[in-house]
Amino acid sequence: MGVRRIASSVLPTAHGEFDLLGYEVGTGAVSESYVVLSKGALTAASAPLVRIQSQCLTGDVFGSTRCDCGEQLRVAMQRIQTEGQGVIIYHPEEGRGIGLLNKLRAYELQDQGVDTVEANHRLGFDADERDYSVCAEIVKDLGISRVRLLSNNPGKLKALEDAGVRVLERIPIEISPQGSSRNYLKTKKEKLGHWLNQV
Ligand SMILES: [Zn+2]
Repeated sequence: MGVRRIASSVLPTAHGEFDLLGYEVGTGAVSESYVVLSKGALTAASAPLVRIQSQCLTGDVFGSTRCDCGEQLRVAMQRIQTEGQGVIIYHPEEGRGIGLLNKLRAYELQDQGVDTVEANHRLGFDADERDYSVCAEIVKDLGISRVRLLSNNPGKLKALEDAGVRVLERIPIEISPQGSSRNYLKTKKEKLGHWLNQV
């Protein structure tokens, strides 16, 4: 599967200035758009910080406290800004891959007391439908073969390693649970195997 870099510009943000890259995967109606924030000179020898940020409209845009996504994105941007080098790949698979409206339906079920994994199952999906293969292709397109991964998710680490990207270090990105995110994070730890120590 080929990824094509079709745009490259600069994005000044509240967390510093980043290079803003646009990638396209596939063609025509089935093409997908991936946005990448990168900072610093990335070389094959460097092992930059890399964050795969799975899209979460409610967390990333609205600051939802049902989950930790928005805070994780901000922490990742700040950390990369501080270090002067790194990459955030914005992975367009909302709701662990079930899509935005299905995620909202899953929230409706969670409001009735089921957890995030059971909600996906009731809607006919796996607990996690995400595919990180394009993210790994983008890492390679950036000329990076070794990374330090900012993640709590064993699946992301495995996907990169399986694609031939060496993960030299896994750096936790753990946000203290707030009242409304505690059960969600507990389920991620217990049912999805995420590395979380604060729940
Ligand atoms: Zn989220």
